[in-house]
Amino acid sequence: MGLPPYKNEAYLDWSEESNQNAMRTALQKVEGELGGSYPLIVGGRRVETDGEITSVNPAKPSQLVGHVGRATEREADMALETATKTYETWSRTEPEARARILLRASAIMKRRRFELLAWEVYEGGKPWAEADAQVAEAIDFLEYYAREMLRLKDGKDVYSVAGEENRYVYQPMGVGVVIAPWNFPTAILTGMSSAAIVTGNTVVLKPSEHTSVIGAKVVEIFEEAGLPEGVLNFLPGYGSEIGDYLVDDARTRFISFTGSMKTGLRINERAAKQQEGQRWIKRVIAEMGGKDALVVDSSADLDAAANDLVKSAYGYSGQKCSAASRAILHQDIYDELLGKVVEKTRALKVGAPESPEVFVGPVQNEPQFEKVSGYIEVGDKEAERVLGEEPGDGGEGYFVKPTIYSEVSPQARLAQEEIFGPVLSVMKARDFDEALKIANDTPYGLTGGVYSRNRDHLERARTEFQAGNLYFNRTITGALVGVQPFGGFGLSGTDSKAGGPDYLPLHMLPRTVVERF
Ligand code: GLU
Repeated sequence: MGLPPYKNEAYLDWSEESNQNAMRTALQKVEGELGGSYPLIVGGRRVETDGEITSVNPAKPSQLVGHVGRATEREADMALETATKTYETWSRTEPEARARILLRASAIMKRRRFELLAWEVYEGGKPWAEADAQVAEAIDFLEYYAREMLRLKDGKDVYSVAGEENRYVYQPMGVGVVIAPWNFPTAILTGMSSAAIVTGNTVVLKPSEHTSVIGAKVVEIFEEAGLPEGVLNFLPGYGSEIGDYLVDDARTRFISFTGSMKTGLRINERAAKQQEGQRWIKRVIAEMGGKDALVVDSSADLDAAANDLVKSAYGYSGQKCSAASRAILHQDIYDELLGKVVEKTRALKVGAPESPEVFVGPVQNEPQFEKVSGYIEVGDKEAERVLGEEPGDGGEGYFVKPTIYSEVSPQARLAQEEIFGPVLSVMKARDFDEALKIANDTPYGLTGGVYSRNRDHLERARTEFQAGNLYFNRTITGALVGVQPFGGFGLSGTDSKAGGPDYLPLHMLPRTVVERF
């Protein structure tokens, strides 16, 4: 296929008035579309359900974003059945034809970019730049996985012996259950679904109950791109009502999950049990949480470190599994750096994402707001709060002001448990050794970073810092598709590296075929 080389989609420049105007127009247009109904889509058919999920704007929960279908086991059964049947034809569709659907979906996303951004603002509570980075990432996943499939379609080279042809090729697996998160409802949902589809599998997609309208928009885009009915089945619902059923079912071949550690471990455990009639070992691709640390050494450029720490901690209100939730500072620069971080954090604009200047929007949903508020109570007992107010002071929405705790003990709950909110725990280390030790001492291992000008320290961290994505002298969030494959060690997941060269093979079965002549 004659494709231009892969390139990351550029972000919008918000200093351009034309972009601001286009965004305001899209926000207005989408506002007029709020409150619509989004039924399930199984085999291309709209399926109404008795119950429903109501999706609201986290910045203004009285504003309804949409009514979404709420699947029960009955519809989950229908979706698995449809995906199983459709697999017979989709798995035999040429890889090029599958890749073309992704490329067309990408083109549609580019054309509908501002509209998708507006949905991110209303349903995700995303500030504009965060919404934009996410839609750009979704486009990147489509473009990258399409090219990856073309690279892998004829298999990989193996050695041969005289008189034989030896081939090593990939085939699809079967029905995949994709369980997507609410924090990147466009990007990660698109990435997980498109990887499963382009490799020839069929999908039952369960979006998060908090961001199902965006899930529906992505599914509509795949439909518009010409994806045959029944390849991607849209099954919104509550994890507590259909999650176990989908994972346990004998028709499920693999589960691709992004979400909390607790749910990921539950999926992994249940998927391991062979069900009646099940003729395979289910595969689990899991991306779970993080308790990510940025270590700042005594030799670091402190202004740059403070800037990138603040961005990594508070981008999308800290609701990224890559977010910096721990800052481990060398004792010699502790006070100076903490001062800079407090000052820069205080200057962040917090509020409803109505203009490009807002950096911290609301927390995405009520349970998350309760959880973060609970950790602020814990934090007040464990450490010293040097910045932050009582959660909820920002008005009707789920607002939590950026919060900083200092002198946090490395064993405190604040330092060990994933909060997934705008709460930063700052810790002091005697020296670089101790800083690394603290950084590695959590059950997670997703992202991590070091700010240092000391070459020996950077080289040591390169091997000793246990993180799937390790960044030096920059932010620790914002992994780029195809450039910084993303995934973590330990209880952060299966280190499946979304957006990397090893990701698609996780959705396929490698096969050796030998012919002797
Ligand atoms: N890939 C995102 C990043 O690098 C984080 C994804 C997540 O939170 O799941 O910031």
